[in-house]
Amino acid sequence: MRRTTILALLLFAAIAAERARVRADLPERSDRVVSYTIKARLDPALKEIRGEMDLVWRNASSKPVDEIYLHLYLNAFRDKDSTFMREGTGEGRAGSRRDEEYPGFVRIDRLRGADDKDLLPALSFVQPDDGNEKDGTLARLKLPAPAPPQETLSLKVEFTSRLPRVFARTGWSGDPEDPDSLFFMAAQWFPKVAALRVDGEGEPRWDAHQFHRNTEFFADYGTYLVSITVPDGYVVGATGKGTGSAKNADGTVTTTFQQEDVHDFAWTASPRFRAKEFTWTFDSFCDDSPKLGLKLRELLARTAQHRGLEASQVKPGNTVTVRVLYQEDHEELLGRIWQAAGASLACYGMWFGRYPYETLTIVDPPAGGRAAGGMEYPTLITIFSDAHAPPYATGLESVTIHEFGHQFFYGLLGSNEFEESWLDEGFTSFTDARVHEVAFGPETAATRYGPFHTPRFRPFEAPSVCGRLRSLFGVGKLLDALPRPWKRPDSLLPVPGAAPFWDYLRDMPALHFDAHVRIPQPMGDRGGYLRSGTRDAMVLKGWEFADRTDYRANSYPKPSILLYTLRGMMGEEAFDRMMYAYAEKHRFKHPTTEDFLAVAKAHDDKTGSFLDAMVETAERFDAAILEASHRKVEEGGAGGPKWEWTIRVQRRGAVELPIEIRAGDELLETWHSRGRETTRTFRFVREGPLDAVRLGPSWLATIDADLSNNARSVEADGLPAATLAARWTFYVEEIVRSHAGVAR
Ligand SMILES: [Zn+2]
Repeated sequence: MRRTTILALLLFAAIAAERARVRADLPERSDRVVSYTIKARLDPALKEIRGEMDLVWRNASSKPVDEIYLHLYLNAFRDKDSTFMREGTGEGRAGSRRDEEYPGFVRIDRLRGADDKDLLPALSFVQPDDGNEKDGTLARLKLPAPAPPQETLSLKVEFTSRLPRVFARTGWSGDPEDPDSLFFMAAQWFPKVAALRVDGEGEPRWDAHQFHRNTEFFADYGTYLVSITVPDGYVVGATGKGTGSAKNADGTVTTTFQQEDVHDFAWTASPRFRAKEFTWTFDSFCDDSPKLGLKLRELLARTAQHRGLEASQVKPGNTVTVRVLYQEDHEELLGRIWQAAGASLACYGMWFGRYPYETLTIVDPPAGGRAAGGMEYPTLITIFSDAHAPPYATGLESVTIHEFGHQFFYGLLGSNEFEESWLDEGFTSFTDARVHEVAFGPETAATRYGPFHTPRFRPFEAPSVCGRLRSLFGVGKLLDALPRPWKRPDSLLPVPGAAPFWDYLRDMPALHFDAHVRIPQPMGDRGGYLRSGTRDAMVLKGWEFADRTDYRANSYPKPSILLYTLRGMMGEEAFDRMMYAYAEKHRFKHPTTEDFLAVAKAHDDKTGSFLDAMVETAERFDAAILEASHRKVEEGGAGGPKWEWTIRVQRRGAVELPIEIRAGDELLETWHSRGRETTRTFRFVREGPLDAVRLGPSWLATIDADLSNNARSVEADGLPAATLAARWTFYVEEIVRSHAGVAR
């Protein structure tokens, strides 16, 4: 009795300690290593920003530092010889190219220390990554005297930033001669101090790289106070909170923005912007959108339960002013942007800790400025929208949710985007699909037709005759009720015992009245990962990947698939707890791959070999049935005839995952294949013959490279083959018909 009481008390104490830990308040602020006070003046005619900057930097290490590094990202657009331009073919974002007539650069005009001493002669371009002497995107400043530990260093910098015609995130668009037509996106526009890291031994090390085609950005947290002067009539949006605005005698307006605990500052200006403000709180958003609100409240309750809390203890956020800067003809899209942003604030806030800032600015660039779209900056994101995009084409929602997600994986968890892009892009890709699923359903309008990828091409985008017929006679509802392969990943291939008859019917080309094809996002990620044929390890520095395809596959879909699989292995509850623990522990810090792996393995030590294989290698996972057979072993007798089933299963590749062996509804065995034992024969004695075998669990379907060997029937079955044949006929017919324009 006594012992039981003590045990119970110990157990209770352990649970209480765990609860106290998850309830611990999130870090309130960053280490604030840098402080920028910048006066910026935009000259629309020259496409230039003249800046005066007071920079205060603190040596946060325990050793003296005798040099500091400055990122001069805009110099990537100076000429064709920059490392950024040499690594690409000149192509930019959204189908744009660099315009040689309108290059970009940043020039430091004056550089002085606190004692007003000229430091410019001590500044030089350096190229630690590739030795390209023509590259001017990183500069080193030899300090006149070492900066002592924990002491601050003040610099006064005057600079000129010429923005390029936008083709890679930053720049301007419009008619260069007409200031009323211009759109400016000022990103990576000022000289920015690189991040000083402290290695294990306490040795400081500058984490400074040149600007590469495949890399994004990395800097330390700090405070920004930026006043922006533009012509009167321009609408300005920026990182942080506007603290005041004043008209000047020369026909300009100066607006000041302030933000603490961020690691970058971006702004935008255009006379053509319309502005709309929304006020977000979790409760008001849920009340105003009842259907979505109900789902979010249910999710909040579930998330709280996963973390061992009451629903009232999970706070997704305080009050956030969401300001959308949009184009005049996009007014009807405002509601959709707001729904996507509001759902994102709620979901990310409950999963990873509340959004700590008071503002979120969403920039909708004009058609000519799409190359600035789809990008994240602290408290400011850029999206792209198309006034004619039909509601089912959810690209607008997707880009809003994705870029908002970076407020967490990039913003609050400031990983090194030069070196470990999977920690921001991969985590955001995985989570944006989850938000999308909660808010808008699991599927996105796809531009994939079976095995064919057709980017920016939707055969049925225009309302087709078939589409109208579909809605007219209610055929649509009937068709929606049919099972579809892309709705259930594990039925992507017809297997015996599923619904071969319905599969067959569904795939008859004549029955296809679909206006568009939708697939769940995990299957999109699966396609991206498996189609890439990547041979690189998942975590490399951005410019070390064999090519851009490998960079992208390893930054977006592969890590996303890794997280789906991890959630499958751990179960949603443990997974949610683990992800929250990671986000909480590393908020306002610079987590690395090792930091994430440590948290994941601490929550579930069985995930270690899987995580290591995914991170360190390009190995794929494939579970395969090599044999499924049966023989009668006992005739008659008391229990009737007995059958021996023989099932041989193989794990292909070094990625180790549990493989379930199922026959009908019965789980026969879960095989934890490890190391060199890649094949095993299983024998079961049952009262009847074996019909078919199928491998699971269902979440394996997102990562398993070949689903066609995951199911096998003992007797030959012609229906799956007929179903496949019908499906291929359909694909080929659709492609041919669409290209010929017959469908319209
Ligand atoms: Zn992203």
